Amino acid sequence: MNKKAEGPKKEKVVGTPALFVTEWWTQFLWDMYCPGCQTPLVGRLIAEAIEELGIGDRAIMVMGNGCHAYLAGGLDFDVTSGGHGRAPDIATAMKRVMPDGIVFTVQGDGDCVAIGADALIGALSRGEKITIIMVNNTNYGTTGGQMAPTTIVGQVTTTSPQGRNPDVEGYPTHAAELVATFRGVSYSARGSLHTTANYRRTKKYITTAFQRQAEGVGLSFVEVITACPPNWHMTPIESLAWIEEKAIPDFPLGEFKNVTHIE
Ligand code: SF4
Repeated sequence: MNKKAEGPKKEKVVGTPALFVTEWWTQFLWDMYCPGCQTPLVGRLIAEAIEELGIGDRAIMVMGNGCHAYLAGGLDFDVTSGGHGRAPDIATAMKRVMPDGIVFTVQGDGDCVAIGADALIGALSRGEKITIIMVNNTNYGTTGGQMAPTTIVGQVTTTSPQGRNPDVEGYPTHAAELVATFRGVSYSARGSLHTTANYRRTKKYITTAFQRQAEGVGLSFVEVITACPPNWHMTPIESLAWIEEKAIPDFPLGEFKNVTHIE
């Protein structure tokens, strides 16, 4: 065969993470989500980080309640779930009976800092050696776009149709900063996925959080800002611009705590 008949040389530069179950399930996973939803990217980040750290056989994911829970069907490691907001309690029990496991929760903002605020504060106070990944889309996405603890001032939701008014509805909760104030916490960071550079940075945050747990140092936490275009009444592209222009000024990105031992 001459060179011309061989055609252009193809090189695979990116592909499906090995810890996604199969191509079929990957398609199923994506089909569950609205166009432009970034929650599946959180699943991809987790799969990539676990694969690169080589901890897939030790990983146990505890799902909260919300759109992120669909991820449970597409990731090839142990997964469980429980009552709304109770994921840190379940993760605590699993970590204590399986201390070699890498136990982490994936929770929405409502699940983590509203319904599950008591479970979160308990785990933070005890310095449980688990990882909490909080998906922050600034509303209750699954149930129709109601105001959440993370809704920014002026943001329109189905329960704040004139925009969140701090005189009536208060101010947003800044979870990553709050978590960083607890003594038993080793790591707290907030990332976003609205640009490739931020995707890579957020992957580093999640990788570091898992590393801290593997080292046995305190609780690690990563908040990820994600687009929810239908409930924001925006196109996917407009959602990315809104994250840059509105969400990030209120929710600054970066690491808020990173220690290798607890004082
Ligand atoms: S409602 Fe929002 S978070 Fe839920 S799948 Fe749709 S875009 Fe994603």
